[in-house]
Amino acid sequence: MTLEMVAVDEPIGLNDYAEVIPLAGAVEELRELAAEVVPRLAGRRVWMVNSTAEGGGVAEMLPKMLTLLRELGVDARWVVISTERTEFFALTKRIHNLIHGAGEPRLTETDRELYEAVSRENAALLAGELNTDDLLVVHDPQPLGSGAILKQQLGLESIWRCHIGLDRVVPATQAVWGFLAPYASAYDHAVFSAPEYVPDYLSDRYSLIRPAIDPLGPKNRELSVKEVAAILRRARLVKTDAVAGGLPFLNHAQRLRPDGRWAPADEDDIGLLFRPIVTQVSRWDRLKGFAPLLDAFVRVKARCTESGITDEHRRRLEAVRLLLVGPDPRSVADDPEGLEVMEELSSAYRRLDPDLQRDVALITLPMESREENALMVNAIQRCSTVVVQNSIQEGFGLTATEAMWKGVPVVASSACGLRQQILDGYEGRLVSDPEDTEELANVLDKLLADPTQRRTLGQAAQRRVYREFLVLSQLRDWLRTLMGRLDA
Ligand code: UDP
Repeated sequence: MTLEMVAVDEPIGLNDYAEVIPLAGAVEELRELAAEVVPRLAGRRVWMVNSTAEGGGVAEMLPKMLTLLRELGVDARWVVISTERTEFFALTKRIHNLIHGAGEPRLTETDRELYEAVSRENAALLAGELNTDDLLVVHDPQPLGSGAILKQQLGLESIWRCHIGLDRVVPATQAVWGFLAPYASAYDHAVFSAPEYVPDYLSDRYSLIRPAIDPLGPKNRELSVKEVAAILRRARLVKTDAVAGGLPFLNHAQRLRPDGRWAPADEDDIGLLFRPIVTQVSRWDRLKGFAPLLDAFVRVKARCTESGITDEHRRRLEAVRLLLVGPDPRSVADDPEGLEVMEELSSAYRRLDPDLQRDVALITLPMESREENALMVNAIQRCSTVVVQNSIQEGFGLTATEAMWKGVPVVASSACGLRQQILDGYEGRLVSDPEDTEELANVLDKLLADPTQRRTLGQAAQRRVYREFLVLSQLRDWLRTLMGRLDA
């Protein structure tokens, strides 16, 4: 068995961020902070350890973080643990689910033996690379045990970064936090995404670092109106001759037809470029709350015929359309639940009146090219009047962050991750119960009627993301956390 040292070679550096006017201040702040921290590190290396070089949010963000940390003068390295014992990853998958509150709340002595054996194997390999004055940053539960052994053997400064959590104590979380206690407690410090996720025994030594988005990546970079239109056309989401350039994407978006067929979404025009649009983009997961959102939208539409509303608002309610968007479940391997949820929503769609079928679009986005998929998400969010994230449970909810960054007003449930991001009435709107479709309908109706509120919520949301949820702010928080360890 060998350790995998991951080389990083991201094309985008600090100067690229600094050239974007709204980001220049954040880059400057980062450089000032680095000027304080880097001399104090005095060449000590910072090791990031996780269990995969590809796939998942952590592996996606690490290359960016490492590139920027190195540019700032930090000697940051990335190493991935592995094992030939595949049952280890089945166990850590169970651990992951238990931290989210799912699964049989039972971990046995056999589980512990397996976990510790693999932790020892990897710790032995890592010990050959690390020095006592290095700083160790271990991500998530898989390498947690190895890091704990290294801490004991070498006495080096150690931080555990846990990217997951649940905001309630249930038997599953009790079982798993009990199982992990001896390893997690060995660390000097922990980092979580929300205070609600911190187990009691770490409450005296943790920092908060929020998940973050990359403002220059294809999903979040600025797009002109022309670019939005061109992407939508290339994805076959709109038919338009108004924009030239760009071949159709390799794979296109599909829309469910009333007869149950999936067809290119531009077969009939949804009206993305000129109608009011309410959108939710998510995986097809029951916990994302698509079904109650569809019901709420039907309620909003029914208000067209009510007396006491202005003609202007009536016209708006007549014109508004709902987009339920997710990845093509046929292209996501190993996601039987995705297909099932898609089926349930398809049946609900086919039961709607023909008028409503015209006003609701169930859309799947191809996943073959990550970049094309990201551009489609970007363009769809930018042409939305309101973005909804009606999750029943949500770890953080980057889809909300992405819309907020684009200045699009967000209506979200009060699920833990979403209430970390949005102060209700200032940075978006929160509904108290994602399954209360009347409440959601009221909030949507009010927001659709009020362009001024939409604008002010969108602007405040953008500022919140700038301060807390961009890669640049995340790096600032990491530098502060490292500095905290140097002071300790
Ligand atoms: N996403 C995507 N294409 C899709 C649907 C979702 O790229 O068709 C992305 C979405 O933009 C976001 C991520 O998947 O960046 C989902 O992250 P989030 O934190 O919202 O939820 P999770 O899926 O991790 O529960």
